[in-house]
Amino acid sequence: MNVPLLDLKGQYATIRSEVREALDRVLDSQHFILGPEVEALEREIAEYSQCRFAVGVSSGTDALLAALMALNLEPGDEVVTTAYSFFATAGVIARLGGKPVFVDIDPLTFNIDPELIEAKVTKRTRAIIPVHLYGQMAEMEAVLDIARRHHIPVIEDAAQAIGAELNRRRAGSLGDMGCLSFFPSKNLGGFGDGGMVITNNNELAERVRMLRNHGFRTRYHNEILGGNFRLDAIQAAVLRVKLKYLDQWTEGRQANASLYRQCLQSVQLPLEAPNRRHIYNQFVIRTSGRDELAASLKEQGIASEVYYPVPLHLQTCFQGLGYRKGDLPASEDAARTTLALPIYPELTPDMIQFVASAINYQCQT
Ligand SMILES: *Cc1c(COP(=O)(O)O)cnc(C)c1O
Repeated sequence: MNVPLLDLKGQYATIRSEVREALDRVLDSQHFILGPEVEALEREIAEYSQCRFAVGVSSGTDALLAALMALNLEPGDEVVTTAYSFFATAGVIARLGGKPVFVDIDPLTFNIDPELIEAKVTKRTRAIIPVHLYGQMAEMEAVLDIARRHHIPVIEDAAQAIGAELNRRRAGSLGDMGCLSFFPSKNLGGFGDGGMVITNNNELAERVRMLRNHGFRTRYHNEILGGNFRLDAIQAAVLRVKLKYLDQWTEGRQANASLYRQCLQSVQLPLEAPNRRHIYNQFVIRTSGRDELAASLKEQGIASEVYYPVPLHLQTCFQGLGYRKGDLPASEDAARTTLALPIYPELTPDMIQFVASAINYQCQT
């Protein structure tokens, strides 16, 4: 049996005619950048994510970049974030001349360990960026408590977590700004790159709206230094169709996660922390024989993926920051022992049982 990590074709087949109608609407309008489709998506995502404002941008990376620009991040400013995430979380800080300050993770949830944050806060700290990794929200109460006491804004990297909840509050709505990604492999994925900044702060929303379009409100009158971080109408039209199915797809992912939990033995399963709605962008297990397991699965036609083999503090491009191996042990251990399994909603119970048997056989002690 062949089990890919992700199969978007099956999902597309179920919404094909609806998506093509939406695309036709954009093609007939010949309005390709921003405009009514993007505005409608912004309203719908704001509502879905329990935020007052949403600003469509060109990617999740640009959402993070624009959010930091909206806070006026300056060269030498420090931003505290997790050492275990996709590169963009830290890349945007350095691109603006800022200094990423890395904090280790809670080994059970893979999210930033709030108890380690305060020791990293200095006079130069301008933001904290927690990441809701793999679709489960970080310990936001503790993060926000530290941030409020030190008057530091919080940007939630919710690129993997649209619709995830903590105490019924949605990812991206708790901090000063939240950043979403519509990269095709995310739970809500477009037909190309896309992203969004969500916020309850009118002023920040207005700044991001200006920043995404060269810093102007009135064309040719550039008030602040921005860029081209605009979202395409075609992406917005596709995403509006897909948003209607997102909860149903999330339930499919959650059901798949439960089945894995019933079937898997001898590997560490991902923890669901209390009071969460986990949306399972990834289902990540741990085992000391990770590389052997991945190789054996591959031989049997089962795809898996290592997110992330090198923690951020040990990336070559961050050598200048002076971190060494051993500095952030929980992140380094996660990089060595975790493996993401196929979890997409269209997986069948047969496929999940096949994957689980292969793992149980390889990992039996
Ligand atoms: C995907 C992702 C991003 C970047 O999103 P893009 O749309 O690919 O630019 C940022 N942070 C995290 C945690 C992600 O998973």
